[in-house]
Amino acid sequence: MISLREPSLLKDQCFIDGQWCDAHSGKTFSVANPATEEVLAHVADGDAVDADRAIVAASRALPGWRSLTARERARCLHRWFELIMSHQEDLALLMTLEQGKPLSEARGEIAYAASFVQWFAEEAKRVYGDVIPTTGNDRRLLVIKQPVGVVAAITPWNFPSAMLARKLGPALAVGCTVVAKPASETPLSALALMVLAREAGIPAGVVNVVTGTDARGIGEAFTGSPDVAKITFTGSTAVGKQLLRASAETVKKVSMELGGNAPVLVFDDADIERAVAGTIASKYRNAGQTCICANRILVQSGVHDRFVAALNAQVSKLAVGNGLDNRTQIGPLISERAVSKVRKLVDDAVARGASMLTGGSVPGTGGYFYPPTVITDTREEMAIFQEEIFGPVSAVTRFDSEADGLRLANNTRAGLAAYFYTRDIGRIWRVAEGLAYGMVGVNEVAISNEVIPFGGVKESGIGREGSRYGVDDYLDIKHICLGGLS
Ligand code: NAP
Repeated sequence: MISLREPSLLKDQCFIDGQWCDAHSGKTFSVANPATEEVLAHVADGDAVDADRAIVAASRALPGWRSLTARERARCLHRWFELIMSHQEDLALLMTLEQGKPLSEARGEIAYAASFVQWFAEEAKRVYGDVIPTTGNDRRLLVIKQPVGVVAAITPWNFPSAMLARKLGPALAVGCTVVAKPASETPLSALALMVLAREAGIPAGVVNVVTGTDARGIGEAFTGSPDVAKITFTGSTAVGKQLLRASAETVKKVSMELGGNAPVLVFDDADIERAVAGTIASKYRNAGQTCICANRILVQSGVHDRFVAALNAQVSKLAVGNGLDNRTQIGPLISERAVSKVRKLVDDAVARGASMLTGGSVPGTGGYFYPPTVITDTREEMAIFQEEIFGPVSAVTRFDSEADGLRLANNTRAGLAAYFYTRDIGRIWRVAEGLAYGMVGVNEVAISNEVIPFGGVKESGIGREGSRYGVDDYLDIKHICLGGLS
């Protein structure tokens, strides 16, 4: 049973054209609590037909929403921000129930999600154009920026509210309308945000959510529609590539926030205490299920043993349990499939010579738990080095020289976030510039908030979310040549 202070936040239908509606097929799918496996809700199992209805609604709403001033749209978004924050507790509870993360992390995610709505409500007021020095006295050369049109957003389960808000905030603020598909493990958080969007006065059809398990069918409805101007996706690199290929057919704009494989480099001159604390904060948040999680921990020989001993001592004390319990630091993984994937990567590394230092116990109460684990002696040819672990496992690799560490860090097709610890100013610049990543944390892992450009290079993505750069992804540039002025 889900017991909310505001029970109307719990919805189990699609949100299309301002209305709550069943899937056209009448089918539903179940959403379960990963900590207990208990079924929480039966949610409308929408498909391509429902996605098409949502696209029609978003297309119809576009002219009206686009023609408002940025200040008028900002009024709605500010109200939405206030409503999200005033229901933070309920929204966090829903998230912990369907996603598993500790309640304190869920509260943090709600504030993080709301911050994108607030930030972009303000930022869209500053979408300036240009006047270019003319090439002839009879003409003036102007540049204006306009909303791209209908945006299709597809989001993952690991940050069910923030990943949606990071797309809806800028899209709505600049005058686009949106059709969104949340992950089928975590639709309740997205639907609750829609209850509040409606209450905030965002007009019917401006934002629509299609829930459903036919991800491919819904995705194809989005990519195949000439009425959808842009696809914005956060999720795995494999699905991102499929969407990129499918978007080519109608030459859509695309933003892709894909998988990471973040290294943490700990150099001999690092503040070890800070490096251990940072590694744990980055690695074990959301049970290791974030795209910018420390995935490979690269430690220079001179401090390797000291760092590993301190890391191991702290990891072995992490409390595993249901996210609703205030003592819990590590919740469940999202599914049984996620647990088997992590187990396979760890078993493979150990079979190839890695050493397991910690692999504690998990509650025996059901649920998809994996113990906080530390393994050492991992090498670059192991799968655990090349793939996102997406679980609470520190995989430590030893390196000797700075050049060696940098080469190891860059030996991946991913390029989202990287971190390193050193106190040498020369090394800070060399390594920060040498890392082939979109974001670099130097002696710091808490790098993400609404004011910075979040995004990756290489196979980690295209485009940036958050910050003043984040509006550009939802805008078309138009040149106006004003002639006949002589
Ligand atoms: P996923 O399997 O790619 O799913 C993400 C979303 O795509 C879900 O809504 C999913 O729907 C949908 N989807 C799946 N197959 C699809 C298809 N063929 N066509 C259209 N949509 C499809 O990824 P995930 O396992 O949920 O999320 C974890 C991944 O996201 C990790 O790789 C992580 O690094 C990445 N991530 C990246 C960022 C970033 O900002 N770079 C942030 C967070 C997460 P269903 O749920 O219905 O399958």
